[in-house]
Amino acid sequence: MNKKGQLIVISGPSGCGKGSVINKLLKENENIILSTSMTTRNKRLNEIEGKDYLFVSKDVFMSKINKNEFVEYAEYCNNFYGTPKEFIQKNINLGKVIILEIEVNGALQVKKNFSEATFIFFMPPSLKTLKDRLINRNTESLEKISVRLKTAMEEITRSHDYDFILTIDTVDNSCYNLSSIINSLYFKYENSKKIIYEVLKNA
Ligand code: 5GP
Repeated sequence: MNKKGQLIVISGPSGCGKGSVINKLLKENENIILSTSMTTRNKRLNEIEGKDYLFVSKDVFMSKINKNEFVEYAEYCNNFYGTPKEFIQKNINLGKVIILEIEVNGALQVKKNFSEATFIFFMPPSLKTLKDRLINRNTESLEKISVRLKTAMEEITRSHDYDFILTIDTVDNSCYNLSSIINSLYFKYENSKKIIYEVLKNA
Protein backbone atom coordinates (compact mmCIF):
# COMPACT_ATOMS: atom_id res chain seq x y z
CA MET A 1 0.00 0.00 0.00
CA ASN A 2 1.35 3.45 -0.88
CA LYS A 3 1.85 5.87 1.97
CA LYS A 4 0.07 9.11 1.10
CA GLY A 5 1.67 12.43 1.94
CA GLN A 6 0.21 15.05 4.21
CA LEU A 7 -0.32 18.77 4.02
CA ILE A 8 0.29 20.80 7.17
CA VAL A 9 -0.84 24.40 6.85
CA ILE A 10 0.75 26.83 9.29
CA SER A 11 -0.34 30.44 9.68
CA GLY A 12 0.42 33.11 12.21
CA PRO A 13 1.05 36.84 12.28
CA SER A 14 4.15 38.13 10.57
CA GLY A 15 6.99 38.23 13.13
CA CYS A 16 5.52 35.66 15.53
CA GLY A 17 8.48 33.31 15.03
CA LYS A 18 7.05 30.82 12.52
CA GLY A 19 10.24 30.73 10.49
CA SER A 20 12.58 29.80 13.38
CA VAL A 21 10.28 27.06 14.65
CA ILE A 22 9.74 25.57 11.19
CA ASN A 23 13.47 25.68 10.37
CA LYS A 24 14.27 23.71 13.51
CA LEU A 25 11.56 21.17 12.68
CA LEU A 26 12.93 20.72 9.14
CA LYS A 27 16.49 20.21 10.41
CA GLU A 28 15.30 17.44 12.73
CA ASN A 29 12.97 15.61 10.31
CA GLU A 30 14.08 14.69 6.82
CA ASN A 31 10.63 13.49 5.74
CA ILE A 32 9.17 16.93 6.40
CA ILE A 33 9.61 19.52 3.65
CA LEU A 34 8.60 23.14 3.22
CA SER A 35 6.83 24.40 0.14
CA THR A 36 8.64 27.41 -1.38
CA SER A 37 6.12 30.12 -2.17
CA MET A 38 6.18 32.60 -4.99
CA THR A 39 5.89 36.29 -4.13
CA THR A 40 5.91 39.74 -5.66
CA ARG A 41 7.43 41.19 -2.46
CA ASN A 42 10.95 42.66 -2.65
CA LYS A 43 13.70 40.30 -1.49
CA ARG A 44 15.10 41.10 1.96
CA LEU A 45 18.87 41.29 2.39
CA ASN A 46 19.19 37.96 4.19
CA GLU A 47 16.85 36.04 1.86
CA ILE A 48 17.91 33.52 -0.77
CA GLU A 49 16.10 33.26 -4.11
CA GLY A 50 14.55 29.81 -4.52
CA LYS A 51 14.98 28.92 -0.85
CA ASP A 52 13.03 31.59 1.04
CA TYR A 53 10.80 32.48 -1.90
CA LEU A 54 10.64 32.50 -5.67
CA PHE A 55 10.66 36.27 -6.25
CA VAL A 56 8.76 37.34 -9.37
CA SER A 57 7.22 40.47 -10.88
CA LYS A 58 3.50 41.16 -10.59
CA ASP A 59 3.08 40.40 -14.34
CA VAL A 60 4.63 36.95 -13.96
CA PHE A 61 2.52 36.26 -10.88
CA MET A 62 -0.69 37.30 -12.69
CA SER A 63 0.11 35.07 -15.66
CA LYS A 64 0.55 32.11 -13.29
CA ILE A 65 -2.85 32.85 -11.72
CA ASN A 66 -4.37 32.82 -15.22
CA LYS A 67 -2.71 29.48 -15.99
CA ASN A 68 -4.10 28.04 -12.72
CA GLU A 69 -0.60 27.21 -11.46
CA PHE A 70 -1.27 27.89 -7.76
CA VAL A 71 -2.85 25.68 -5.09
CA GLU A 72 -3.80 28.97 -3.43
CA TYR A 73 -2.73 32.59 -3.55
CA ALA A 74 -3.51 35.80 -1.69
CA GLU A 75 -2.65 39.46 -1.47
CA TYR A 76 -1.04 40.33 1.87
CA CYS A 77 0.06 43.85 2.84
CA ASN A 78 0.10 44.94 -0.83
CA ASN A 79 2.11 41.98 -2.14
CA PHE A 80 1.01 38.71 -3.73
CA TYR A 81 2.00 35.30 -2.37
CA GLY A 82 1.13 31.87 -3.78
CA THR A 83 1.83 28.15 -3.43
CA PRO A 84 2.97 26.53 -6.71
CA LYS A 85 0.84 23.47 -7.53
CA GLU A 86 3.49 21.28 -9.17
CA PHE A 87 5.67 20.93 -6.04
CA ILE A 88 2.69 19.93 -3.87
CA GLN A 89 1.35 17.32 -6.29
CA LYS A 90 4.77 15.70 -6.79
CA ASN A 91 5.61 15.45 -3.08
CA ILE A 92 2.17 14.34 -1.88
CA ASN A 93 2.57 11.38 -4.24
CA LEU A 94 6.03 10.67 -2.75
CA GLY A 95 4.47 10.37 0.75
CA LYS A 96 6.12 13.51 2.14
CA VAL A 97 4.83 15.69 4.95
CA ILE A 98 4.63 19.12 3.32
CA ILE A 99 4.44 22.34 5.31
CA LEU A 100 2.72 25.35 3.80
CA GLU A 101 3.59 28.50 5.73
CA ILE A 102 0.87 30.82 4.47
CA GLU A 103 -1.52 33.54 5.64
CA VAL A 104 -5.16 32.94 6.57
CA ASN A 105 -6.93 33.71 3.25
CA GLY A 106 -4.72 31.22 1.42
CA ALA A 107 -5.17 28.68 4.22
CA LEU A 108 -8.95 28.85 3.79
CA GLN A 109 -8.58 28.16 0.07
CA VAL A 110 -6.50 25.06 0.90
CA LYS A 111 -9.19 23.98 3.36
CA LYS A 112 -11.79 23.94 0.57
CA ASN A 113 -9.63 21.84 -1.77
CA PHE A 114 -7.74 19.55 0.64
CA SER A 115 -10.14 18.53 3.39
CA GLU A 116 -7.56 16.14 4.89
CA ALA A 117 -4.95 18.86 5.46
CA THR A 118 -4.14 19.87 9.04
CA PHE A 119 -4.35 23.54 10.03
CA ILE A 120 -2.15 24.97 12.78
CA PHE A 121 -2.19 28.61 13.92
CA PHE A 122 0.91 30.06 15.58
CA MET A 123 -0.16 32.57 18.22
CA PRO A 124 2.21 35.24 19.61
CA PRO A 125 2.20 35.43 23.44
CA SER A 126 0.95 39.05 23.15
CA LEU A 127 0.63 41.89 20.63
CA LYS A 128 3.36 43.75 22.52
CA THR A 129 5.81 40.85 21.97
CA LEU A 130 4.84 40.78 18.29
CA LYS A 131 5.44 44.52 17.87
CA ASP A 132 8.84 44.27 19.61
CA ARG A 133 9.85 41.36 17.39
CA LEU A 134 8.87 43.20 14.20
CA ILE A 135 10.81 46.29 15.28
CA ASN A 136 13.89 44.28 16.33
CA ARG A 137 13.85 42.28 13.07
CA ASN A 138 14.55 45.57 11.32
CA THR A 139 13.27 44.41 7.91
CA GLU A 140 10.25 46.72 7.56
CA SER A 141 9.65 50.46 7.99
CA LEU A 142 7.55 51.60 10.98
CA GLU A 143 4.72 52.35 8.57
CA LYS A 144 4.80 48.81 7.17
CA ILE A 145 5.04 47.38 10.70
CA SER A 146 1.83 49.11 11.68
CA VAL A 147 0.07 47.59 8.61
CA ARG A 148 1.41 44.16 9.64
CA LEU A 149 0.14 44.63 13.22
CA LYS A 150 -3.32 45.56 11.99
CA THR A 151 -3.31 42.48 9.74
CA ALA A 152 -2.11 40.40 12.72
CA MET A 153 -5.19 41.35 14.73
CA GLU A 154 -7.46 40.34 11.84
CA GLU A 155 -5.62 37.03 11.49
CA ILE A 156 -5.88 36.27 15.22
CA THR A 157 -9.65 36.73 15.13
CA ARG A 158 -9.79 34.08 12.39
CA SER A 159 -7.64 31.52 14.20
CA HIS A 160 -10.72 29.56 15.30
CA ASP A 161 -10.89 28.14 11.75
CA TYR A 162 -7.72 26.13 12.53
CA ASP A 163 -7.46 22.62 14.03
CA PHE A 164 -4.72 23.62 16.50
CA ILE A 165 -3.54 26.86 18.10
CA LEU A 166 0.06 26.86 19.27
CA THR A 167 1.29 29.74 21.43
CA ILE A 168 4.88 30.49 20.48
CA ASP A 169 7.19 30.78 23.49
CA THR A 170 10.72 29.47 22.99
CA VAL A 171 11.79 27.99 19.67
CA ASP A 172 12.70 24.64 21.33
CA ASN A 173 9.41 24.29 23.16
CA SER A 174 7.30 25.39 20.19
CA CYS A 175 9.16 22.99 17.90
CA TYR A 176 8.58 20.15 20.36
CA ASN A 177 4.84 20.98 20.47
CA LEU A 178 4.63 21.22 16.69
CA SER A 179 6.36 17.82 16.31
CA SER A 180 3.90 16.33 18.79
CA ILE A 181 0.95 17.53 16.72
CA ILE A 182 2.45 16.24 13.47
CA ASN A 183 3.39 12.86 15.01
CA SER A 184 -0.11 12.44 16.42
CA LEU A 185 -1.57 12.68 12.89
CA TYR A 186 -0.18 9.23 12.13
CA PHE A 187 -2.83 7.83 14.46
CA LYS A 188 -5.76 9.61 12.81
CA TYR A 189 -8.22 7.22 11.20
CA GLU A 190 -7.49 8.37 7.64
CA ASN A 191 -3.79 7.60 8.04
CA SER A 192 -4.33 4.41 10.00
CA LYS A 193 -6.12 2.49 7.23
CA LYS A 194 -2.81 0.70 6.55
CA ILE A 195 -2.74 -0.62 10.13
CA ILE A 196 -6.27 -2.00 9.81
CA TYR A 197 -5.32 -3.62 6.49
CA GLU A 198 -2.18 -5.24 7.99
CA VAL A 199 -4.09 -6.65 10.98
CA LEU A 200 -6.92 -8.09 8.90
CA LYS A 201 -5.04 -9.28 5.81
CA ASN A 202 -4.36 -12.81 7.11
CA ALA A 203 -7.71 -13.34 8.83
P1 5GP B 1 6.63 37.75 4.65
O1 5GP B 1 6.48 38.92 3.72
O2 5GP B 1 6.79 38.18 6.08
O3 5GP B 1 7.67 36.76 4.21
O4 5GP B 1 5.24 36.95 4.60
C1 5GP B 1 4.05 37.62 4.82
C2 5GP B 1 2.92 36.63 4.98
O5 5GP B 1 2.71 35.91 3.77
C3 5GP B 1 3.18 35.58 6.07
O6 5GP B 1 2.02 35.51 6.90
C4 5GP B 1 3.36 34.30 5.30
O7 5GP B 1 2.89 33.19 6.03
C5 5GP B 1 2.48 34.56 4.09
N1 5GP B 1 2.82 33.71 2.94
C6 5GP B 1 4.04 33.28 2.55
N2 5GP B 1 3.93 32.51 1.46
C7 5GP B 1 2.61 32.43 1.16
C8 5GP B 1 1.85 31.77 0.14
O8 5GP B 1 2.36 31.04 -0.73
N3 5GP B 1 0.51 31.95 0.15
C9 5GP B 1 -0.12 32.72 1.08
N4 5GP B 1 -1.45 32.80 1.01
N5 5GP B 1 0.55 33.35 2.05
C10 5GP B 1 1.90 33.22 2.09
